[in-house]
Amino acid sequence: MFTISNGIILKGQNLTPVRENIVVDEGRIIEIGKDSKEGKIIDVDGAIVCPSFINGHIHIGDSIIKDEGYGLSLSEMVRPPDGVKHVALANASDEELISAMRQSMMEMIESGTTHFIDYREGGIKGVKLLKKAATGLPIKPIILGRDDSFYGDDPDLGKVKKAIQKLLKVADGIAPSGFGEITSEVAKLIVDECNKKNKISSIHVAESESNQIESLNKSKSTEIEKGVKAGFSQLVHLTNPKGIDLDEVSKSKQNVVVCPRANATLNVGVAPLNKMIKLNIKPLLGSDNVMLNSPNMLRELEFTLKVMSVYYRQYINPADLLKMATTNINYYDINDIVQKSLIKEGDFAEFIVFNSFSKNPYLNICNRLETKNILYTINKKFNI
Ligand SMILES: [Zn+2]
Repeated sequence: MFTISNGIILKGQNLTPVRENIVVDEGRIIEIGKDSKEGKIIDVDGAIVCPSFINGHIHIGDSIIKDEGYGLSLSEMVRPPDGVKHVALANASDEELISAMRQSMMEMIESGTTHFIDYREGGIKGVKLLKKAATGLPIKPIILGRDDSFYGDDPDLGKVKKAIQKLLKVADGIAPSGFGEITSEVAKLIVDECNKKNKISSIHVAESESNQIESLNKSKSTEIEKGVKAGFSQLVHLTNPKGIDLDEVSKSKQNVVVCPRANATLNVGVAPLNKMIKLNIKPLLGSDNVMLNSPNMLRELEFTLKVMSVYYRQYINPADLLKMATTNINYYDINDIVQKSLIKEGDFAEFIVFNSFSKNPYLNICNRLETKNILYTINKKFNI
């Protein structure tokens, strides 16, 4: 048992700042209060206590080819099966993949991340490799798998269904790359099978303008419309929405993930975060491919804060931004699988204690902090 005393706690779903103490026992927050004190007392003297980060979207497998292919187009880089990334993955040994993935997880742990949602390539074997790489580390991978049988204009649906069912025995959900690579029948199968097993179905949508135009030309509906209609539990990117795309997402209450640094690296645009917030969409932030970006959420937060001002000539509220890396996941049913806690009594202790440099705790985190300013990461798996 221990007490983090005298910190500025960003409490509950809304990250409400209060100067109180937190008592942790066997990985759970048992009490929060001005006078609460039990066990070892750790006086943090005005430091900020923030929920640990969730990285909402990442491809950790391409940690093996950091910065390769810079300057190529989105499809040249990542479209299966011939993109730079897929060729590299196909040629990597298991040992190389495991060691590169483990290194990326260490980087995430060091920079305050305790949960990440991964699009894992390579079928069942790919899922198992990530599990092996994560063994013993204080971080929770939520693994969404895929299978090569999904692709093509006329896939064998019986085979696809079997592949999904087998994958769901080891994975937390399914995530094909995008609607450019799969048919609407395959999309429906993925969503149906995931729903039956209470797992996550996720897909990239509207990452680039050309994806959207290709989709409109082919089927008269945007990728976002297709994602909403198919009922995926999570939609990733929405960088280039059209017409009433975002209104539809808001109504459907699907979880959304945005990846501003990855979109910038591939020069495909900036997701309209303020519009999403206005429509009551609660996005998560993701760092996307490790080949494009470091998986450090502090870097994602600072970049997003600044790029919103530059691109839209409008500020983003830093409290809303910080929720995208922490508590927005708690709004969604998929948190049953993710299992990310809030800072509140009874929840698991999953929080970071940061140095405080300014009076605004949100800007302090999004605008100033670096990994070296983390004083403690408390994770339910590990007591200090
Ligand atoms: Zn992605």
